[in-house]
Amino acid sequence: MYRHRLLGNVDFPHPPGKVVCVGRNYAEHAKELGNAVPTSPLLFIKPATAMVAMAEPLSLPEGLGSCHHELEMALLIGEPLTKAAPEACRAAIAGIGLALDLTLRELQDELKKKGHPWERAKAFDGACPLAEFVAFDPNLDFTALTLRLTRNGGVQQQGSCGDMLFSVENLLSEISHSFTLMPGDVVLTGTPAGVGPLNSGDKLLAELGDFLRVETVVL
Ligand code: ZN
Repeated sequence: MYRHRLLGNVDFPHPPGKVVCVGRNYAEHAKELGNAVPTSPLLFIKPATAMVAMAEPLSLPEGLGSCHHELEMALLIGEPLTKAAPEACRAAIAGIGLALDLTLRELQDELKKKGHPWERAKAFDGACPLAEFVAFDPNLDFTALTLRLTRNGGVQQQGSCGDMLFSVENLLSEISHSFTLMPGDVVLTGTPAGVGPLNSGDKLLAELGDFLRVETVVL
């Protein structure tokens, strides 16, 4: 059973809640999938059952088409947040980390065409591998934070949180006006360009600046 962990194998006191995700928070990624750049964040939710430890071998759904990796900076929520102003949001962050927003891309395209919700493509069991979290330093400059995904030795995704269309503070504020965030919830902040399909046997290395380095493998 997945539990949030802080670096150094420290247990986080709250059980995993929901994962609130933002689509198209990097202009280059919106473009690579042929989507318009949004004027307000496109939000969706993955349930607690989607969360697994990223360092464990990843098991992908079978027979549902390609499953894409989307490497994202993840925020672990430590305090309740309801209808909060952007300036009030940093105080609710307990940790920063990395997530893979696993996406059944063909299924998502079909659902999009029909105007249906994306849950079947994005909220399945195991759809949100998470790294351990780094305790949040309130003075952290998010715009200087970089993330990188290497697949089988080649850099696949690379981005800077400074390129996010909606900043961390604005994103949390916006989310908190639709969904109360609770301790144990996680917010994914969107993926930079370079998403692509995962294959059985792929070796992945996910990095968040100098803070985190997680190796894993696709079963
Ligand atoms: Zn995503």
